[in-house]
Amino acid sequence: KELPADPNERNTRRQVRNACFSYVTPRKPSDPSLVHVSPEMGETLGIMNSIESKDFLNVFSGAKVMKGTKPYAMCYGGHQFGNWAGQLGDGRAINLAEVENNGKTWALQLKGAGETPYSRTADGLAVLRSSIREYLCAEAMFYLGVPTTRSLSLVLSGDEVLRDVMYDGNPAYEKGAIVCRVAPSFIRFGNFEILAAQEDVKTLRELTDFTIKHYFSYLGKPSKDTYLAFFKEVAVKSLEMVMHWQRVGFVHGVMNTDNMSILGLTIDYGPYGWLEGYDHGWTPNTTDKAHKRYRYGTQPQVVLWNLLKLANALYPLIEEAEPLQAVLAEYQDELKVAYLNMMKSKLGLYKTVENDQDLVDKLEDVLQLSETDMTIFFRLLTGFKGDDSNDGLDLIKDAFYHPEEIKGEVSRQWKEWFLAYRVRLKLEEKNDVERVEGMNTVNPKYVLRNYMAQLAIDAADKGDYTILDELFNLLKKPYDEQPDSGKWFAKRPEWARNKVGCSM
Ligand code: AMP
Ligand code: MG
Ligand code: MG
Repeated sequence: KELPADPNERNTRRQVRNACFSYVTPRKPSDPSLVHVSPEMGETLGIMNSIESKDFLNVFSGAKVMKGTKPYAMCYGGHQFGNWAGQLGDGRAINLAEVENNGKTWALQLKGAGETPYSRTADGLAVLRSSIREYLCAEAMFYLGVPTTRSLSLVLSGDEVLRDVMYDGNPAYEKGAIVCRVAPSFIRFGNFEILAAQEDVKTLRELTDFTIKHYFSYLGKPSKDTYLAFFKEVAVKSLEMVMHWQRVGFVHGVMNTDNMSILGLTIDYGPYGWLEGYDHGWTPNTTDKAHKRYRYGTQPQVVLWNLLKLANALYPLIEEAEPLQAVLAEYQDELKVAYLNMMKSKLGLYKTVENDQDLVDKLEDVLQLSETDMTIFFRLLTGFKGDDSNDGLDLIKDAFYHPEEIKGEVSRQWKEWFLAYRVRLKLEEKNDVERVEGMNTVNPKYVLRNYMAQLAIDAADKGDYTILDELFNLLKKPYDEQPDSGKWFAKRPEWARNKVGCSM
């Protein structure tokens, strides 16, 4: 569609019909300044030579629209916490352009660059706090080997953003910030859902054909079979993504269908968190504490629920429920296998042995008897030997938050598990060195614990970006032994207990 002549009209909040996106104009920041750039992403995009230029700052703060481009915001809907929420859309995200480099195409998107037709009652802005959380975590996830959107840049807008009201009734302003995030595509389950909800099958087909043509071209020309194969691919990719989350202890926190990437990428870093104490019931999302819909242990099932919503959205193109249901049933079968294999890899177990499921189940139980740091536990576990030379409980004692609880029944169950693990290790063909090597490629030593991000945020708020940069670099090699391991390879300090990040 044509651009409205008056640029101010483009961004007006409205219900959008018969369209997948709306052209918008980013908001002009009053005094933009660069906080951080991901050199790797800059390299990947082939724009490293420009990162110190005024143009770079202008484009990635929204101050200037690149010649020949038409920024736009996407229309999507979504199921939020189990309920259909109607039109949502890019309320504070603006797609700038696509960049081709080294045979790959990347979409560039600003987050926090002002209102769009989809901003509803909110302001389209983002604060430094949430922007640092997204910026750091996306890159950290990439280096952990988890499919994710990436971060290119983090800038301050120079504007103040109202986010909270203090207990004394005074407004609490925060520094406005803009992240440029990058992905092959930002299309979500919700982009399909909104069109199905509007019974706009024509546009739904256009969007699906577009998605297949550009991101799943190996599936062939559009047809009912291709649409079905597409759904299967999304299921496979989404399963892969959530298995990585379980492996590294990442809890997304807001797994609404509008936050599910059609490419199986982790997207929309809001109130996410990392398991410290291993706990299937934990969620970082304070607004979800009552129902805990999006807790760690349910994430794979939530993906399934979200896939069901996508299946409903694609149904008008396929018009047969059974093959869609079959894909969902396969997901459940594949989940069981994938989960067991993932957990076995964390334990350094590669052969197929009948009681492996039992060993994993028992481990999950003992890990939850007393608060046990997941990341530290799996790294310390590499020291456990297949021969009878060391004591497991002694080896992992630094992973316990309450060492005084490791006695009596708790200690007995742990010892029993270590005994079973030792017996099982003896069936492996790999020697200890090979096993440890393997374990250290799937069990990270460093993850972005909430308090770490908070330290970076507190310093950055005062204009000091050294911790931000330190963490950015540390998290590029999350599986390596690094010289400062005593500092960041450590349990959450007591002051940080129950402190969680906020999404807005
Ligand atoms: P989220 O829960 O962050 O994934 O966001 C859900 C919906 O709210 C999406 O449509 C977002 O674009 C929108 N949204 C969140 N924060 C803002 C904001 N500050 N301004 C405008 N829209 C927002
Ligand atoms: Mg979102
Ligand atoms: Mg279990």
